[in-house]
Amino acid sequence: MTGSAARPPRRSALLRAVTAAAVAVPLGTAGWFGWRALDHSDPAGATAAPRAATAAVSPGPSTSEEPAPTADTASAPSLTPPVAPPPTTAPAAETPPAADATSLAGRTVLLDPGHNPGNSAHTAEINRQVDIGNARKECDTTGTETNAGYTEAEYTLDVSRRARALLTARGATVVLVQDGDRPWGPCIDERARAGADAHADVALSVHADGGPASGSGFHVIMPGRVVAGKANTSAIVEPSRRLGLLLRDRFHAATGEPYADYVAEDGLDTRSDLGGLNLSTVPKVFIECGNMRNSTDAKRMTDPQWRQQAAQGIADALTVFLTAQEKAEGR
Ligand code: ZN
Repeated sequence: MTGSAARPPRRSALLRAVTAAAVAVPLGTAGWFGWRALDHSDPAGATAAPRAATAAVSPGPSTSEEPAPTADTASAPSLTPPVAPPPTTAPAAETPPAADATSLAGRTVLLDPGHNPGNSAHTAEINRQVDIGNARKECDTTGTETNAGYTEAEYTLDVSRRARALLTARGATVVLVQDGDRPWGPCIDERARAGADAHADVALSVHADGGPASGSGFHVIMPGRVVAGKANTSAIVEPSRRLGLLLRDRFHAATGEPYADYVAEDGLDTRSDLGGLNLSTVPKVFIECGNMRNSTDAKRMTDPQWRQQAAQGIADALTVFLTAQEKAEGR
């Protein structure tokens, strides 16, 4: 889960809006507010009700600055193989990208497992405010968990390690922001800087969401353009968007997980309130792999086999991104 402040509504489709209204009503106000209360940087939960209400009355097309994903994906340069549209059925037929043991030699990937299993025992440390360019925000948060108590921090670390193994086998150098080797954190500003510190070609932050129990699916969060204080995402917005589209498609193909039906749009969101993106100087996106408060998603995320598929989707997206980047740079 990634703390949000005043995130605007991102829904557009009438069907989706109607569905949202339909599930919001039986849940009642307590359900939505209970969800937002879990979101550490939005304690008032004040954005929840307007968001649901807006979704119900705004069935028009998206006002997003994002172009149509399919067109954008199709125009992405030098992708080998070309990225296919997301399949609607089982992902087994997906052709993996070229992935011999040396295909990513010389490339460095920064993986950022969201939160830290030790954060809950270090609230004073993680609650201190840090500068994210256009705001101040908590150093880090505890993250969410399934109803059975499987924590987001355990999940993100496991998937990141699995992705590291896959990418290392393809020749990449993989750096983890934390590897269960520190008692808490690091803070989100340090997580953002870690990409540059590692001289990484690309960075990716792994999360799982804590949304309303009725909502399911995954979404990818890309950086908006932020030029404020220490933040300047101008140079990473475009490549991060390419990565985001690849990740959306590859993750869907590898896991069969649907696009989120309670947040974002077609599995994609753009945000300017995340320190981990605002302060990054290398292309970076977040993935919210599913909703841990939804029973179907929780069952998947608790299954090691599914987590391996999740890692596969992440590794495949990064592989295709780096291969395209390499060709574009004439390496
Ligand atoms: Zn998270």
